[in-house]
Amino acid sequence: MIANYHTHTARCNHAVGTERDYIEQGIANGLQVLGFSDHAPYLFNDPDGYYSNMRMRPEEFRDYCDTLTALREEYRGRIDIRIGLEMEYYPAHFHRTLQWMQDFPLDYLILGQHFLGNEKGCRYCGGRTDDEAVLKQYVDQVIEGLHTGCFTYLAHPDLPAFTGSDRVYARHMTRLCETMHALDIPAELNLLGLMQGRAYPSRRFWRIAAETGCRCVLGCDAHTPTATAEPTIIAEAMDALAQFGLTPVETLPLKDPFAALYTKKD
Ligand SMILES: [Zn+2]
Ligand SMILES: [Zn+2]
Repeated sequence: MIANYHTHTARCNHAVGTERDYIEQGIANGLQVLGFSDHAPYLFNDPDGYYSNMRMRPEEFRDYCDTLTALREEYRGRIDIRIGLEMEYYPAHFHRTLQWMQDFPLDYLILGQHFLGNEKGCRYCGGRTDDEAVLKQYVDQVIEGLHTGCFTYLAHPDLPAFTGSDRVYARHMTRLCETMHALDIPAELNLLGLMQGRAYPSRRFWRIAAETGCRCVLGCDAHTPTATAEPTIIAEAMDALAQFGLTPVETLPLKDPFAALYTKKD
């Protein structure tokens, strides 16, 4: 692994360590590219003041960018630092938030759909369920998000812990994989899920991804510095993917995070 685009910072309230800790660990483990993609600030503009506790606040975004810009200069020639965000696609707030982000030096976005709908009052995508409607809504929403053209890749596509039949699972995940294939957007094999023994990565998802011809990429989803390109987890992931005939891409061209703003007609 020479590039990782999925790294968090303490601003999301559930990651630890300094940016420098992640960078030093990444260098020690052989990374040439380290992308930070903390949970995106979101402009909910909620009348009741709703805000997530698992993402930075909008007023923290400037410091996030400034800190990473300074480190990018400091580490130039040793490792290539990129400034990204892991962001959900919430249709009610996405374009407004993106417009606001244009004033910041954002290099890329990855799509990580943690909640359905527009988050507030909506279901967490990773909860166990056998309800096909929930799986369908996840897939529909992610497909719509991918079509914005803003996202470099899809993080943990297999987040839904669907407990229903393989047939129903395949019906929807095949649609998702076919969309990623058609748009040439890679699916992430999430190393944090692997490390923590979560429901994802899911074997039945990766079987479908391989059959569909999806490209895949490894993402550390590091919330602790030690999880940055951790060699034993990478080896485990490579073995798992090899069983499906998959080899992850090493580096990715970053898609313009603001692509949707040039085509949107309000
Ligand atoms: Zn997180
Ligand atoms: Zn993440």
